Amino acid sequence: MKILVVNCGSSSLKYQLINMENEELIAKGLAERIGIDGSVVKHETIGKEKVVIEQNMDNHKAAIQIVLDALVDPNHGAIKSMDEISAVGHRVVHGGEEFSDSVLITDEVKKALEKCSDIAPLHNPPNLMGIHACEEILPNVPMVGVFDTAFHQTMPKASFMYALPYEMYEKHKIRKYGFHGTSHKYVANRAAEILGKPIGDLKIVTCHLGNGASITAVDGGKSIDTSMGFTPLEGLAMGTRCGDMDPAIVTFLMEKDHLSCYEINEMMNKKSGVLGISGVSSDFRDIEQAAAKGNERAQLALDVYHKLVTKYIGAYAAEMGGVDAIVFTAGLGENSPDTRKEACKNLEFLGVKIDDERNNVRGKETIVTTDDSKVKVLLIPTNEELAIARETKAIVQ
Ligand code: AMP
Repeated sequence: MKILVVNCGSSSLKYQLINMENEELIAKGLAERIGIDGSVVKHETIGKEKVVIEQNMDNHKAAIQIVLDALVDPNHGAIKSMDEISAVGHRVVHGGEEFSDSVLITDEVKKALEKCSDIAPLHNPPNLMGIHACEEILPNVPMVGVFDTAFHQTMPKASFMYALPYEMYEKHKIRKYGFHGTSHKYVANRAAEILGKPIGDLKIVTCHLGNGASITAVDGGKSIDTSMGFTPLEGLAMGTRCGDMDPAIVTFLMEKDHLSCYEINEMMNKKSGVLGISGVSSDFRDIEQAAAKGNERAQLALDVYHKLVTKYIGAYAAEMGGVDAIVFTAGLGENSPDTRKEACKNLEFLGVKIDDERNNVRGKETIVTTDDSKVKVLLIPTNEELAIARETKAIVQ
């Protein structure tokens, strides 16, 4: 069984074709600048040379068509015909309160997703465009929606309610939803496997630290709290997103600097985070380098970031009444020994003892604590595409 995993952004489309007999990646790629001049598909079939296809793509349907042509191309393709694709798994950012699990996409599901677009205007419309495009080109292939929010639907009400007037929840569904759920679920389950314990017996804090970043308290395999909120803006400072701050700053700036809603939103989402503080970059590699050369604002950005990670881990350990394991994943969590070390530096009181030699590792499943560390800290590379393919397989079967 071969499953195509599709992740659509507003002008991009990432894809992977996975062989579910052995869970191996067959091909992957990225279509960029959809609907913009200079559209391009970068495609790679594993074991063959990468190709770059420069071709106009007016919309997501055109992009999917080029991707499928690339997959069946006799030279750089991976399969003989599209019939070999048994199902398509779509990453969908927001499933609202409707979806606590992955679903087979039907007309009702699409209607419910359109409703969720109100609360996820940046993310859900492109996800839906990808679904429509795939349905048109692959009309007989089952499609499955896998939601970033679904894993967090187990949060108790006390975790997901904001202290706003209750009517805001009733009227606008304003509440914490949480994101990166597929990744948090995948690494939490993998941690239990690595530790050889049933996930039901474990209290785990999972730290997904990439360009977007969130931390989740996973108690007995269920998300009970998470740092992202109504949107993926809350929580940790991120590459360009501000994360937690006093909400009064928004109205203050709107009044003082006469910023519009759009401008303040752009500032909080695209000009803040470690980019905003450091003025150097949103990429931690650049910031770590600048800090090492003595750039004070770069160091400050790192200090702010590490402190927030520590704070959330501590808060979630308290919320769960203990912690057995802390997992680091995604670009920074997997590749920055410094981040793991600094974030865990003040957690010795909880029973965390980082082993510097073990921690000096990138992108490989590793327990980075000493043998006598009460709390285990693990590096686990996330694999959201494989997780989506597994969910898709389970649903279509
Ligand atoms: P992701 O969103 O998971 O792809 O993560 C991307 C982010 O991971 C980049 O913006 C970098 O900040 C960070 N990253 C990737 N590799 C490294 C590395 N070797 N050292 C530090 N940060 C890294």
